[in-house]
Amino acid sequence: MPVISHSLTVSFNNCSASTFYSRFAFRNPNQYVEVRQFPRIYCAKKAKRTGKLRYPSEKKKLREKKQTKSDAPTPIEGVWRISRLAVSVQDDPGKDFWDISEALLKEIAKILEFPVSSMLPPEAFTVVRKSFDARKLQKEPKFVYTVDMDVHKLLHLEPRTWEFISELEPKNGCLEFLHFDKTFADLSSIIRESQKMKESATSAEIVHGNHITGSDNFSTTRKPRVVVIGSGPSGLFASLVLAEVGADVTLVERGEAVEQRGRDIGALIVRRMLQVESNFCFGEGGAGTWSDGKLVTRTGRNNSSVLTVLNTLVNFGAPRCILVDGKPHLGTDRLIPLLKNFRQYLQELGVTIRFGMRVDDLLVNGETVSGVKISDSRGSFDSSSQKLECDAIVLAVGHSARDTYQMLLSHNVNVIHKDFAVGLRVEHPQELINDIQYSGLANEVQCGRGKVPVADYQVAQCVKGTDTSILSNMEPVTRSCYSFCMCPGGQVVLTSTDPSELCINGMSFSRRSSRWANAALVVNVSSKDFEDLNLTGPLAGVEFQRVFERKAAMMGGGDFVVPVQTVTDFLDNRLLVTSVPPSSYRLGVKPSNLHELYPTHITEALQRAISMFNEELPGFISNNALLHGVETRTSSPIQITRRSDTWESTSLKGLYPVGEGAGYAGGIVSAAVDGMHAGFAVARNLGLYDNSLDTIVGKAQSVGFVKY
Ligand SMILES: Cc1cc2nc3c(=O)[nH]c(=O)nc-3n(C[C@H](O)[C@H](O)[C@H](O)COP(=O)(O)OP(=O)(O)OC[C@H]3O[C@@H](n4cnc5c(N)ncnc54)[C@H](O)[C@@H]3O)c2cc1C
Repeated sequence: MPVISHSLTVSFNNCSASTFYSRFAFRNPNQYVEVRQFPRIYCAKKAKRTGKLRYPSEKKKLREKKQTKSDAPTPIEGVWRISRLAVSVQDDPGKDFWDISEALLKEIAKILEFPVSSMLPPEAFTVVRKSFDARKLQKEPKFVYTVDMDVHKLLHLEPRTWEFISELEPKNGCLEFLHFDKTFADLSSIIRESQKMKESATSAEIVHGNHITGSDNFSTTRKPRVVVIGSGPSGLFASLVLAEVGADVTLVERGEAVEQRGRDIGALIVRRMLQVESNFCFGEGGAGTWSDGKLVTRTGRNNSSVLTVLNTLVNFGAPRCILVDGKPHLGTDRLIPLLKNFRQYLQELGVTIRFGMRVDDLLVNGETVSGVKISDSRGSFDSSSQKLECDAIVLAVGHSARDTYQMLLSHNVNVIHKDFAVGLRVEHPQELINDIQYSGLANEVQCGRGKVPVADYQVAQCVKGTDTSILSNMEPVTRSCYSFCMCPGGQVVLTSTDPSELCINGMSFSRRSSRWANAALVVNVSSKDFEDLNLTGPLAGVEFQRVFERKAAMMGGGDFVVPVQTVTDFLDNRLLVTSVPPSSYRLGVKPSNLHELYPTHITEALQRAISMFNEELPGFISNNALLHGVETRTSSPIQITRRSDTWESTSLKGLYPVGEGAGYAGGIVSAAVDGMHAGFAVARNLGLYDNSLDTIVGKAQSVGFVKY
């Protein structure tokens, strides 16, 4: 942190500083600030056209400015947002520094056109976003900041800036006055705060003799009972909302709590023992627990729902930097303690959590669900099913609950198939990716301990396919091929939930310090691809996944050994390199020709895309790059249709399909957001909530599915 002396006496504009005190009033007449009068500091003025010499566009701008100026609050009270502040790697303290450095202060002063950066007190500024921009179009990689300037603090700490601040004007794209200084809080605080306000409003109503009883369907006799199936991000956030608003919540999870789940995953990696109910997909925290914990989402980083979710994660132990980092991620080591805190909080709220219990069936009464049948998924002697009666069910089962999908069909729940993507996972030495992305700066990575982030990439291309047969007009199909779930400094892991199937994904720890970089390279597939394999019906996509997962297991030769091929051999459709480069995958790899895996049009689309990716990332095609098969569970292959007004299943009242498994999310944050809004929807339908928080937690978005 730079040390700024506030008793500094400066001399500029040929005038020496004199110090005497005066007082001036802010808009609020009670609020006086002592001002030390120093030489006045003004914005640098540019030569301007005036009067008739102004262009019509300039006149228009001036009119608009006058108009907004009269409405705008005096800028000596609020917050100015300063964006596009670029600091070179050399001058920046590095990726793990989230405060105001001297170099950043200089950049702030430049944008403000403030002559003496050292006079700006760093305490008046807060970093609200920090990203690392290493795009090739830049002259050199830079840290890019967005910073908020608190005018009140600034004037308090450095009153000599008053004159300057009062003349500050917005600059397109880099300086704006924030009219609404919205502060975001975690979900529980938001709900509690609103309940407090409601209670005081209600007591005021009672005092005035006009208390209205409200829409609570459950009067005072009992709390509404809700069963939440699945403890992934969507199930956890739905449970949190429902417990906070007063529902009696039972959270049923087929997998184990993170402590036991960790041991089960250990046994899988070391002894090849797959627990079908407790693994990389099933268990506390859902599929994203043993993951890279990327918290990026395409729903928009600044939307209220996302910010509420991120603040909630911070409340449960995530580092505050996830609120600021341009590409926030947690890593498995941080996710596990966070989930323990989440669990403890839910239990304190009275949520009953049943780990190792699987929902096998629904209890249906006419067109309404009335409960679930659950059984012990640990395979204990007493595996007879129990019934749990309830008023609503939140179905948050993730994309691997294939048996649950089948069960839904037996109750004629509306399920439709959905497009998704399949492909392979590519792994490079991390050093190679660092070199490609950062060139000379690559040595600053230092296995995640250096100044710059471990390099990642994101590539996407549209590829014209050769699969004309499936279209009657013989036009080649255009497919999007893209990288997905990139894990810098990570490892490839097994995400199978059945020993006869093989599928993989990637994870990493917070430091991202491993020697490898992996990412899925996938091609979108739709019903036409399923039909090509004679797969029809709502679960055609699930069957499509299964076909290739079984094929991959066979190609690997069993025991979860993964078939692999170097990128160079894959492009040439040959198997020359049989002594493949090392892989981070712990259960062993077997050199294979991956052309034997997918239909030709998918393989060819991948080949072309890889060649195109190499133009963007020269060196991507390498003998040291290893393709692993298969990546099939990129997102849910189905959608359980739900009503846009009540969020209930379109075919079964009281059933709320949410999250990734239901086809409404794709990633940790989007699943959490969907779960949160589903929680509010259930609460509203049960008379526990009245939409009063929409302005704070944001409105639910009707997204089909969102990839991270
Ligand atoms: C290895 C890996 C890495 C990933 N990395 C990232 C990442 O870095 N960033 C990111 O945003 N996303 C990542 N994802 C995706 C992300 O994990 C999911 O999008 C997200 O977890 C979906 O949340 P969900 O709540 O909808 O479902 P899930 O997280 O899948 O949770 C569903 C839960 O329901 C339980 N369940 C299923 N059926 C039943 C039943 N019948 N009875 C009881 N319980 C049941 C399951 O055991 C599971 O715990 C990753 C996924 C994997 C597998």
